[in-house]
Amino acid sequence: MAEIAFFCIPAHGHTNPTLPVVKALTDMGHRVTYYSFAPFRSEIEAAGARFVDCGAGNAVAAASGNAVARDITVSTRLIVDTTLALQDMALKSLEALKPDVIVADSVAFWGKLFALRLGIPFISSTTTFAFNQHSSKVMKQGLGDLIRMLVKMPKANRLLRPLRDAGYPVKGVLDIVQNDDNTPTVVYTSRAFQPCADTFSDKYRFVGPCLRPVAEPMQKPARALVYVSMGTVLDGEDDFYKNCVQALGDGRYEVILSVGESRPPSDLPENVHAHRRVDQLAVLQAADVFVTHCGMNSVSEALYFGVPLVTRPLTPEEGGVANRAEELGAGLRLASADPAAIRAAVDAVMADPKYRDAAGRIGQGFHACGGPQAAAEAILEIATGA
Ligand code: UDP
Repeated sequence: MAEIAFFCIPAHGHTNPTLPVVKALTDMGHRVTYYSFAPFRSEIEAAGARFVDCGAGNAVAAASGNAVARDITVSTRLIVDTTLALQDMALKSLEALKPDVIVADSVAFWGKLFALRLGIPFISSTTTFAFNQHSSKVMKQGLGDLIRMLVKMPKANRLLRPLRDAGYPVKGVLDIVQNDDNTPTVVYTSRAFQPCADTFSDKYRFVGPCLRPVAEPMQKPARALVYVSMGTVLDGEDDFYKNCVQALGDGRYEVILSVGESRPPSDLPENVHAHRRVDQLAVLQAADVFVTHCGMNSVSEALYFGVPLVTRPLTPEEGGVANRAEELGAGLRLASADPAAIRAAVDAVMADPKYRDAAGRIGQGFHACGGPQAAAEAILEIATGA
């Protein structure tokens, strides 16, 4: 039996793909201890892991989770503060547990630092595209962002001193935030969907999306179904949802809006249904088109079910995911957020089967990757040295 420790940030998009992997491991009789945050406790325990709370009395760790700030000095401070705030609890716990391997989310940097410090094998769990100098160019991180980062790097490196003083063998920030080509890495997509896949060594295991089961399958409605979601992080998208209602409210399609904290118009046409949150996998199984912000999870889930995309990326990372879907023919970018542009894009994707065919091809590739079982095997190879 292997003893495995997981570390993650408090975000659904980073936690969700790991849960079926945890379940596969615990179903096989291995032990998983998962270091995370209170809102995730019940789903982590339901996957069969022992939960360890990183948030109790530790506001820094919880605050650091949602976004690694765009300013590298702010991110570095968060990494240092979180690692130091967690270390008494985590090192003591890990020393008692003696895990065979630590699996840490690619931005839960403290998990990697604890592994380094204790000499425990480390695996990166990467819920975005895998990242190196080649893929970052294609994913179009803005030149301005890169320059700002380089200018601030010396200061960021100086901020690491408390970590060095505490015994962490770190030379610079890049060593922490980037992995080399030899770091075992689980990536939840296929090589075919990953940009610049041939620049990643076979230490990178492209296991495909690891999806939770559909709780209650949805019946396909009589009209074609358009599903709209801007993810779980954005709010204040009231105008966009209003435009969707105006664009799609004439009864040609069945329309489901997942609006989160945004407020859609109160008097909706009979064919439009708005919810704070839906069982996205159930809806996608029945959907014909997905209007999406291009979060990596949402896009992977849609393509897994062969659903073509109308894309509306709002961050550089989402832009990278949208570019890749468009490049492979599975998506069409909104020309603007106006009702006319929304309607034109949805009609175009519905009318031309090439979008659905391309989404289906990518989805078939995902299915062939092995999913949670393949991820569990990659982790066990490192844990057991087999
Ligand atoms: N999600 C859901 N119901 C909703 C909206 C979103 O279950 O109504 C899930 C979705 O299936 C996905 C995650 O929330 O797994 C969103 O992750 P993504 O990376 O797409 O976007 P983020 O919310 O992180 O921007």
